Formats: sequence, structure tokens, C-alpha cells
Amino acid sequence: MQKIAVMTSGGDAPGMNAAVRAVTRTAIYHGVEVVGIRRGFTGLMSGEFVDMTLGSVADTIQRGGTILYTARCEPFKTPEGQQQGFQVLQEAGIDGLVVVGGDGSFRGAQALSKLGVKTIGLPGTIDNDIACCDATIGFDTAVNTAIEAIDKIRDTATSHERTYVVEVMGRNAGDIALHVGLAGGAESILVPERPFSMDDVIRKLERGVARGKKHSIILVAEGAGRGMDIGKYLAEHTGFEVRVTVLGHIQRGGAPSAKDRVLASQLGAYAVELLLNGESGKMATIYQGALTSVDFDTVFSTKREPDMSLYDLAETLAI
Ligand code: ATP
Repeated sequence: MQKIAVMTSGGDAPGMNAAVRAVTRTAIYHGVEVVGIRRGFTGLMSGEFVDMTLGSVADTIQRGGTILYTARCEPFKTPEGQQQGFQVLQEAGIDGLVVVGGDGSFRGAQALSKLGVKTIGLPGTIDNDIACCDATIGFDTAVNTAIEAIDKIRDTATSHERTYVVEVMGRNAGDIALHVGLAGGAESILVPERPFSMDDVIRKLERGVARGKKHSIILVAEGAGRGMDIGKYLAEHTGFEVRVTVLGHIQRGGAPSAKDRVLASQLGAYAVELLLNGESGKMATIYQGALTSVDFDTVFSTKREPDMSLYDLAETLAI
């Protein structure tokens, strides 16, 4: 393998730069030329390449976002778009590609792999919604960012003796809400993977007040409902003073945690080794504690669920 490319695609996630850095430096270490593709599949289709050197990834491991920029590209979902991307890679003499992104990005990567470009995916999304991996790059940082916010909200919630509803990201996955809810001492955690009843939520709130609690926090995963609607319902049905905070995009930004930097570095380096070994159509991952690779088809067909024992534990501790 003479020349490989690396891109970030889909939503940005803290740790993507650490992954790009690891891909770049590992490839150069093995004497392989590296180019970066800007703006995901959009940049691939238009040939937006940038030479990657040891220096171009210097001072990036600690930075959030992605130095390669990212994008969503509808035309790449079509066979014509994929063929165009394939041709651009062929003309540039690129033999291998590393795509850092979510499962949508993996589908694009798989299409290129089927056309004949050796392609490896790295799970990069704050949502942790990819099967066959213990944690996605960016998840740990997002959880830590949300916890910091919850701790601050808790101070004001206690001072004013209020109930706070906090909505966190995660799209259809409750992972962020579960981890933040448990670590932040929430009264109730509402996630899409577990049906909930508002009567239960209210019962717990009232039980807390009866034993002298000064504040309550209800954690809502965006996939379970809108924080605003839940807050309104609680205010109308309890008479408590309820405030709602939607954490939003602050969860995507910020310097990656040490854990995400380590994970991204391991996976970035491993992706290059997989390419050098002639592998393609796979995700590099840490799964059940081991550094391994899993076929995209297996990733797509495996049903995943967050660790629901955390949910049960949070319920017990919120007694
Ligand atoms: P995140 O989880 O952060 O949203 P993602 O990678 O799942 O990341 P998507 O918007 O689903 O984000 O996908 C990113 C890009 O991958 C799309 O804009 C498109 O260019 C490409 N892509 C998505 N689905 C497909 C598909 N079925 N075939 C080819 N390319 C695809």
C-alpha cells in the first residue's frame, strides 16, 4: 500500500483529531503517504485533498471538533455518487481509506469497499449508538461535559428548591442519559430503550419531597421525548416549580477526555495496520475489552442496547 486517505464524516465528535493524528503518524511510520479528505464524502466527491505530514497533525490531539471538517452528503448515498468518489480516489492513486464517523458514514465506507478501495471505519460519534464496540470515540467526553453541566444545574436547583428537567443528546440511544443520570444522581432517567410512565416520575418526585429533598433532576434522552414537553407536564401535574435545560451542542464540543484520546489513538493506529494487512470493509473497535475488527455487515445487523444494568442501579440509588 503506497497511499492512504483519512476523513471525518457525519456529526463531529471530540477525539476525531486524535484519530486522524494516529492514522497519519502510523502510516508515515510505515512509509505510507497520507492525504486528508476535507468535509467527508462531499470533499471526496470534489477531490478536496490536503497532504498530511507529521507536522500537520501536531498540536491537535487535545482539540475538539475535526481539523478535516465534516459534512453530510446526500449525493453519496446514490450509486452514481459512490462511483464518482471511487474514481476520484483512483485518479489520486489512493489505495486505502479510513473513515471516522457513525454508522451512516460506515455505509458510505462499505460502498467504497465493495467498489474496490480498501476501507476501514472508526466509530466516531458522541451517541455511542454503534454495535460491536464498547464505546465510540467522543462518548466519554460528551458524558463528562454533560456531568459538568448537571453539577452546576444541581447547585441552582438546590438553592431554589426546584425540579430540573435536563435533556441530553443521543438521538435514538439512551447511553448518554444513562451514564449522566447515574453519575449525576438523577431522580429519574428517561431513555428510549425502556418504557416509562409519567405517573412513576411524579411518584418519585413526590416521595423525594416528602423525605425533605431540596431539588430533583430528571434526565431525558432526546430519543425518549422533548425536555420541554416533560417539564410542562410535570409543572401542570405537580404544582412544583420546574425548569428545563436542553444541553444541546455543548455536548459535542470541547477538548477530548484522556479516555477518548487513548481510544482514538489505539483505533487510528490499528486501522492503518488493518489496511496494511489487506483488510477492508471493517470497523476497527475495542469490543468486549479487546482491540479487534468487525465486518460492517455484522455491525449493521447486530442489535445493540445500552448497559441497562445502569438503569436498574440508578433506580435503586434514587430510592
Ligand atoms: P452521526 O452518528 O454522528 O450522525 P453518521 O455517520 O451516522 O454520524 P450520517 O449523516 O448518517 O451520520 O452519515 C454521514 C454521511 O455518510 C452521509 O451524509 C452520507 O454522505 C454517508 N452515508 C450515509 N448513509 C449512507 C448510505 N446508505 N450509503 C452511502 N453513504 C451513506
